Amino acid sequence: MIRVPEDLEVRVCAQCLSRHTGLRWEHPPGDAEDVESLLIEYALRALEDEMRVLQGARVDVRPLEVKGEPGGPGSRVQVAFLVEGEWEVEGERLRREYHLKVPVTFTLCHRCMKYRSGFYEAILQVRSFRGGLTESERKELEEFVTRSAESLLKRDPMAFISDVKHRDEGIDFYLGSTSAARKLARRLVDRFGGTVRESHELVGVDKDTGKRRYRTSISVRLPHLRPGDVIELEGAPYEVTGVGERCTLRRLTDGTRVRRDWEELAEARRLKPEPAIVVNTDPPQVVLERTGETLDCFDTGALDGLEIGRRVTVVVLDEGAVVLPEED
Ligand SMILES: [Zn+2]
Repeated sequence: MIRVPEDLEVRVCAQCLSRHTGLRWEHPPGDAEDVESLLIEYALRALEDEMRVLQGARVDVRPLEVKGEPGGPGSRVQVAFLVEGEWEVEGERLRREYHLKVPVTFTLCHRCMKYRSGFYEAILQVRSFRGGLTESERKELEEFVTRSAESLLKRDPMAFISDVKHRDEGIDFYLGSTSAARKLARRLVDRFGGTVRESHELVGVDKDTGKRRYRTSISVRLPHLRPGDVIELEGAPYEVTGVGERCTLRRLTDGTRVRRDWEELAEARRLKPEPAIVVNTDPPQVVLERTGETLDCFDTGALDGLEIGRRVTVVVLDEGAVVLPEED
């Protein structure tokens, strides 16, 4: 009642569990419970595609078990099925039971083969405007890029990181795809601010196609400023309010908003907020807790409505202190 091709076989990537469909590698469905149920599903699909059923016959295919342990490339298991068939001919009902085994062979898909061989198409260079990264910045950046690449992997199987190299000037991530490197650069800039530059280096000529082969380097330069930081720029205090390709700042003395290129801020001095006590409101004055010094304040309106004796946060410039607005 049924016929199954003798060479019926399921090919599965031992690393990512993709299935070879004859034309290409298909990613495993995201909702697979475990390897065993995934292999059963693959084998069932292969059977449904390849099994020929006698016209008029009804068959019921039931998976029984996976025989053998899934392993590395080269290993094999079998998925056992029970097929029950029913066929009516001249008023007589025929029933048959068939035991089938669909072999599953483990191999490596193109992507995983390239990954294992250390293949990369682009280098994402993470640098800083200051010329170096601190240990904690390195840790944070490596985690951020690794996590972002993992989320890209769901849609782009080549978005793997095949190597990470820490250099004096920053971190190099070796990526399987140029488009993934570009997306990661974009995410870095959205999160930390900075600039992106792309360059291409001729690395050879493809023997088969005669086409030139290029390697892409995407260089992200990150600023050392974060939203909330207070800096001194042309003698005035500014708060960083937004990061991106350019920096958005608010002048604390009058609330003016400006945008600047990161290059212009490379030398900007970061001011350290510190506690002080209000001792006078007209003219505004505070005593710095750290030194006990009395300082005149820029008249920013931040002291309006504050009582004498109130503890505030200030930054100190040559011309006096700036009281920072209270956090909500
Ligand atoms: Zn794979």
